[in-house]
Amino acid sequence: MVFIDTHTHLYTEEFNNDRKEIILSAIGQGLSQFYLPAIDSSTTQAMLDTKNMFPDRIFLMAGLHPCSVKENFKEELKHVESFMEQHDFKGIGETGLDFYWDTTYVKEQKESLHRHIEWAIHFKKPLILHTRNSTRETINIVKPYISQGLTGIFHCFSGTAEDAAEVVDMGFFLGIGGVITFKNSGLDKVISKIDLSHIVLETDSPYLAPVPYRGKRNQSGYIPLIAQKLAEVSEVELEEVARITTSNALNIYKSSLS
Ligand SMILES: [Zn+2]
Repeated sequence: MVFIDTHTHLYTEEFNNDRKEIILSAIGQGLSQFYLPAIDSSTTQAMLDTKNMFPDRIFLMAGLHPCSVKENFKEELKHVESFMEQHDFKGIGETGLDFYWDTTYVKEQKESLHRHIEWAIHFKKPLILHTRNSTRETINIVKPYISQGLTGIFHCFSGTAEDAAEVVDMGFFLGIGGVITFKNSGLDKVISKIDLSHIVLETDSPYLAPVPYRGKRNQSGYIPLIAQKLAEVSEVELEEVARITTSNALNIYKSSLS
């Protein structure tokens, strides 16, 4: 079985002491590729260094995380532009809206999201969306651009069944991670109605570890635990989940298995 972690922050300091071992152990669990969403200029170098450890398996994105949108966000957006000029990238993000941690910069978050949408359309890359407490609002912003070929992933999808149906209808994918294993998250019921052809797997490491590691450091090697839960929810074999979600991930990132 081959899996892909479509959203993992393997470059953060939580992995400074054992990054290589963690990646090797994930590979041992069947993980074939790892997609690294950007946060901001403070993590760019660590992201590049991590890519260099396994250049055939690790792929980068260009973007500014909504939680890093502050007074200086225009400078940060310039940094993203210069990154795109100098490096290969497979996606735009993560971007989006976060109304959970801090709503001081909502206006700026929206402006930043619009810039990312323009980049995604221009470069024909998938848009990786972070939508904490903001699924509805993000759908409303993104929807008018679908006709221009915009597609991507609602990473860590946490909306309602209605939201999920609308995201699928827009041709976007639902990024499903550890939350689906959480008791009472309700996500399992929402996802049980969604065809696997619209779903990709992600860990969002080091955050949101699946049960039985909930609350601990997450890692890409836990993807099979998420896939197993998805198999139960969707009433299919684990192999089927691996096959379909891997193919979805390759399609969205325009990648192939080497
Ligand atoms: Zn993330």
